[in-house]
Amino acid sequence: MSLLVQKFGGTSVADSNKILAAARRAIQAHHRGEQVLVVVSARGHTTDELIALAREITDRPPAREMDMLLATGEQVSVALMAMAIESLGVPAISFTGAQIGLVTDSFHTKARIKNISNDRMTQALAEGKIVIVAGFQGMDENYNITTLGRGGSDTTAVALAAVLGASACEIYTDVDGVYTTDPRIVPEAGKIDRISYDEMLELASLGAGVMHSRSIEFAKKYGVPIHVRSSFSDAPGTWIVGEQDARRLGVAVTGAALAKDEARITILGVPDRPGVVHLLFQTIARANIVVDMIVQNVATDGATEVSFTVARGDLAETLRAAAAAANEIGALGVTHDAAVAKVSVIGLGMRTHTGVATAMFEAIAAAGINIQMITTSEIKITVLVDRAAAVGALRAVHKAFLLDEVHARPQLTFFPAGSTTGAMKLVPLADPDANGPREQGMEDLVIAGVELDETQGRITLYDVPDRPGYAARVFQAIADAGVFVDMIVQNVSQDGQCVLSFTAPRDAVNRAVEAITPIAGGQISIEPAMAKLSVIGVGMRTHTGVATRMFGALADRSININLINTSEIRINVGTDVAKGKEGLDCLRKVFALNHES
Ligand code: ASP
Ligand code: MG
Repeated sequence: MSLLVQKFGGTSVADSNKILAAARRAIQAHHRGEQVLVVVSARGHTTDELIALAREITDRPPAREMDMLLATGEQVSVALMAMAIESLGVPAISFTGAQIGLVTDSFHTKARIKNISNDRMTQALAEGKIVIVAGFQGMDENYNITTLGRGGSDTTAVALAAVLGASACEIYTDVDGVYTTDPRIVPEAGKIDRISYDEMLELASLGAGVMHSRSIEFAKKYGVPIHVRSSFSDAPGTWIVGEQDARRLGVAVTGAALAKDEARITILGVPDRPGVVHLLFQTIARANIVVDMIVQNVATDGATEVSFTVARGDLAETLRAAAAAANEIGALGVTHDAAVAKVSVIGLGMRTHTGVATAMFEAIAAAGINIQMITTSEIKITVLVDRAAAVGALRAVHKAFLLDEVHARPQLTFFPAGSTTGAMKLVPLADPDANGPREQGMEDLVIAGVELDETQGRITLYDVPDRPGYAARVFQAIADAGVFVDMIVQNVSQDGQCVLSFTAPRDAVNRAVEAITPIAGGQISIEPAMAKLSVIGVGMRTHTGVATRMFGALADRSININLINTSEIRINVGTDVAKGKEGLDCLRKVFALNHES
């Protein structure tokens, strides 16, 4: 008998009618002959109200008591849901997180799941009951109630689907799926029929976050197919699945996203020697700041600039840490821009298509918008632009990739649940983040792998004018020459000029140089062969310190980092080709990957 997990979010259980409607859905699946496990969130705005209530009492509620309080929201929902199902004639039983032995670590209000004992759930399911479990909560080893962080019910649902071997995890919510971009910003946005875990992870922190990104990390780790759909309709929503199931022929770009509230910090005159960026990011990580985009271009005259972005709200604190770090490494100074935004396009199809970068840069140029910074991953291109221009850039890009015509594209038919393949080989490791070491558990940081690519060379253009259209022209010329570009790195300009680097297959480096020589204003330098080292993993964004650890390992071997770019799920660095193997070896060691990857 197959098992289905259904999760109902706060809006889907906001009042008694909605609870009854959700109950009917669970019963429908039960009548189809499935075992049904329901996970519910707190009703409506209950969690917010409970937080406000605590704040009326004190500004600094103890985290343990906060969890005790917040967990009540979900406890109300499970009881009402069980009553609703029983009243409709099907046996049901509700459980709190603690009652199903959902054990977490002791980091109150942001606990991580360590393990779940499924005996009680399995038994109730075998008795023909619909089992209802409170989302978002668990207990630590000392029976203290914990919660998993805001939005954590998604993670509970996916974790239960994983341990019980469910055929799928349905997420019922107030939207009918994942959109090509945020429809509140771009009304032409369309629903995506299926998307891979990696694409979803790359989208999640960019404001397209329909789901808690830890739940996607979890689903990827355990290969759980997720179906995000509306609680108010029967229309199919969006499937979040493994790469094999998500791939759509002929489609290069799946979605576009905007992160509006970014701030950019640049460390000027960073000495070009091993260990320096490590020191820098170690200082930032110690201040408990989550760094997003990191960009470092090749050095000129023994020094380079390192830029990174953080949430706008973290700017003041980051500037303090950055100033201290700049001083320690002997850098020249720190600049920042509090008014920037990040625009990205995401797509599995980028791996096999050329010209995505060109099309993106062209669309932005045509809208008259300047690109301040560029970073890429295999499935994503991100640019940093002025915040005031960001929505315009997003719309332009969305249109350029025909994302507004998603409905006109052939819609793929539904794939059989449970057919998800390609769960990667994952090796969990302990996460020595700034809060001190966490122990190993189901949810620990997983580095999927480290990679060495020795097939590429680097081309760098200097004195690139800092105005719209330049990047578009360069990459148009490259695409016309039939050269496939991998990493693109552009840092912010100094004195109106930028340095733009990109990597391409070694045998295409000369062709690329020929193609851009007529349009490059200034000097061009090449590194005919380089090593690209990458750390790839789920959990990179919700864990601090991955970059620090990567840079630290390279520093310990005195391997100089020439180039850095990042995305949500990877950090790429360019180093001397002669150091590639040694670099790979030390990264495998530091991330405890002993297998040949
Ligand atoms: N009720 C919790 C929150 O509002 C958990 C959830 O809804 O996923 O964050
Ligand atoms: Mg939610």
